[in-house]
Amino acid sequence: MFKGITKRWVLNTLLVVIVVVLFVVFCLSYAVRIYYYHSVTQTLNAATAEFLNVLDDYASDPQSFSATARSYVENFDDKEKMEITAIDAKGNVIITSTGFTPDSTHQMPDYIKATSDNLSRYEWTGNLSSGENVKAVTRLVRNSQNEVMGAVRCVISLTDIDYNITMAIVIISVVGLTIILLVLFSGLYFIRSIVRPVRELSATAKKIAQGDFNTRIEKSHDDEIGELCDSINDMATELGAAERLKNDFISSVSHELRTPLTAIKGWAETMQYCGSVDKETFDKGMDIIVKESSRLTSIVEELLDFSRLQSGRMMLMKEKIDILAELDEALYMMKDRAINEEKHLLYDKPESMPPVYGDKNKLRQVFINIIDNALKYTQSGGVVGIQILDFTHSVHIVVTDTGCGIAPDDLPRIKDKFYKANQSVRGSGIGLAIADEIISLHDGTLDIQSGIGVGTTVTIAIPVYKETN
Ligand code: ADP
Repeated sequence: MFKGITKRWVLNTLLVVIVVVLFVVFCLSYAVRIYYYHSVTQTLNAATAEFLNVLDDYASDPQSFSATARSYVENFDDKEKMEITAIDAKGNVIITSTGFTPDSTHQMPDYIKATSDNLSRYEWTGNLSSGENVKAVTRLVRNSQNEVMGAVRCVISLTDIDYNITMAIVIISVVGLTIILLVLFSGLYFIRSIVRPVRELSATAKKIAQGDFNTRIEKSHDDEIGELCDSINDMATELGAAERLKNDFISSVSHELRTPLTAIKGWAETMQYCGSVDKETFDKGMDIIVKESSRLTSIVEELLDFSRLQSGRMMLMKEKIDILAELDEALYMMKDRAINEEKHLLYDKPESMPPVYGDKNKLRQVFINIIDNALKYTQSGGVVGIQILDFTHSVHIVVTDTGCGIAPDDLPRIKDKFYKANQSVRGSGIGLAIADEIISLHDGTLDIQSGIGVGTTVTIAIPVYKETN
């Protein structure tokens, strides 16, 4: 009947509420019964005590005892409420307020019990032969020699009292049942308000897992469930963006790999099928094959670096290094390309620089990447300037270009993995992500300032070497 959360709630909460309510109903009912019966006993005690007081003075004289008892009973005001009886020393009824001889089967045992057990007071609750439930209190009257001269007995019918007790128990039970029903319905309503959105969330999550990143869940409550809806919607948006980036990445990497492979294959076939090619053509072909092979190698290196970064396996071989030497090396590798592409590579080389503590191969790779970008996004005739500045605690390498620049919307995201602001230029979109991570691993920063048509300035800051490193 009940499943999942509803079943857990029924077992954990509803059952506890039912047990508590039943316990309270039982205790209250018991207390009501005790209260009513106790008041009856008190009334009977008071009545018998008063009657006893009157008869006590005449206990030694049976004649006066009997006369006083008759007169008291005849003048008794509360005849409607209770029955009072005077009994002589032999246990015979002298007079009773009802005017009839009381039920001998029950009255006599009271007196006999009180005298035989030598009790001054005896209380009895039970049914008369008529079936009526009554409570009776019997008290013995003794003379000055402590001899039993008779007894007084008061009886109250419990019919009305039992009816009142039953009514009270019915009311308490109805209140208890109402509480249980209220808890049940409010609980089921509450659970439904959780279970339904959770089911919808689960269905949406399944769709997302199957690749439908456009699906969204409607937020119906502004609470934790609403927050979960927002998170799942955000997750779908992010997954959709990641999926698009992945597809873009695959297509740009495939393109990146295909271009040099086509050149290599083309020149290799030319040399293979065209018989003996002249020396000039052979040299040109070999030159292209070598250049494109090294381009392929650097693409594969970049991809490997990226995969190492993703899995946290990138290891740095840090040591005290001469940063100028690494920058020189990077520039040496770019010099010919700048000349070929008719771009001006200006290097303002300082006399000396303090050493830094880092991995020389990785830092050189970062310099190459940044200068490569500067050349790549700068038109022929443009200028790429490199400066290196000593700021006491850190060394700043500043690469400026007069290229196309980056739009303000793209600027915050260009260090993200696979993000390409410029789709028309070759590139995988992971160069800056790797460079940023490598500089972070050196406790440095990589800052990019740019504007469309203004050019780009990349500043790499690396802490200088300290003896404590
Ligand atoms: P890519 O391999 O595509 O160049 P990067 O991670 O190196 O990838 O750069 C990310 C994006 O940042 C590039 O696609 C480009 O749009 C932009 N970018 C990087 N450097 C420059 C620059 N010097 N001038 C203009 N845009 C740049």
